[in-house]
Amino acid sequence: MCLSVIQTIILTEEDMKLESNRKRVSHALRASKLVVFPTETVYGIGANALSPIASKLIYQTKGRPSDNPLIVHIAHKEDVYKYIESASDAAVKLMHAFWPGPLTLIFKKNDVIPLETTGGLETIAIRLPRNDIARQIIIDSNLPIAAPSANLSGKPSSTAFKHVMEDFMGKVDIMIDGGQSEIGLESTVIDTTTIVPIILRPGFVTQAMIESVLGYSITDQSSTGPSGEVKSPGMKYTHYKPKGEVMIIDGSIEHMAAYVKDAEIKHPDKSIAVICEVEYIHDFTCKVRSLGSLNDQNEMANNLFSALRDMDEWGIDIIFIHHISTHGLGYAMMNRLIKASGYYIINV
Ligand code: AMP
Ligand code: MG
Repeated sequence: MCLSVIQTIILTEEDMKLESNRKRVSHALRASKLVVFPTETVYGIGANALSPIASKLIYQTKGRPSDNPLIVHIAHKEDVYKYIESASDAAVKLMHAFWPGPLTLIFKKNDVIPLETTGGLETIAIRLPRNDIARQIIIDSNLPIAAPSANLSGKPSSTAFKHVMEDFMGKVDIMIDGGQSEIGLESTVIDTTTIVPIILRPGFVTQAMIESVLGYSITDQSSTGPSGEVKSPGMKYTHYKPKGEVMIIDGSIEHMAAYVKDAEIKHPDKSIAVICEVEYIHDFTCKVRSLGSLNDQNEMANNLFSALRDMDEWGIDIIFIHHISTHGLGYAMMNRLIKASGYYIINV
């Protein structure tokens, strides 16, 4: 289907203080139009979750496969009960511990939410964001807002306003500039429809944080490989991929430097770059994009999608990414990097 060019309105955080602008946003959402807005995780491309037309428009505009369900955003905890059959004890505990915040919970849906929004599933993913603009537009529109990450399907998620401009200028009605995303990684996704909750996507809220609230161990099914069975439809698609070939290099920095040097000699016609921690940027002779300091996982997470997008801006053919430590937030970062590489990991 060919989508026509739209005159996109850009609003700043300052603009959103004016009631007239906030009304523009809620009118657009109530008319099943698309609004790109900031959240604390990444930017979202939002629409009325109750409208099959609006949900279909999200899929068309992102180029997202129609079986990859959307996360529904709400502004008040008690609103969750409007859209679900029931909540397990674990779900209630997690809602109270982490909402508002970067945690998405999967429930059995009721009939209020159309199947178009859930990619045909009888379950629904719900999150209560803590970003003020996100909550404001949900409250103003008085609607649940379906909002996947605001990137064209397959591309890295958007963590800066320039990313959403690249992907959606002329394709959505309104874009709200909220500056750099606070966290920079998408939410943790937990299935609470099972007896013991399951992590489907790691994020800022880690397994250890969840287990300390629940008081028991849970399982993680987020690392299923490309051919494995998946519980979360989004996990089976290529994601976060720059145009160049991406490889994760696992080993000492000296061995990685030797491997990259060798590649530079073997491929003099190719543009090569490394993504690594700032402590190692002088170990390489090719172009290098720093993720930030080894000692600051929040900074690294915040830089991750920008670094992947920079590879396309720099016109890089071969991208070597240093395997980062998987403790804490590093586990979620590696989950995204492994997908960006198409599961291509080289041990050196
Ligand atoms: P995004 O909105 O782009 O961050 O992606 C949403 C993620 O949540 C995808 O990986 C989806 O597959 C996952 N998701 C959404 N709804 C469900 C659901 N009902 N069951 C399992 N996974 C879901
Ligand atoms: Mg996404």
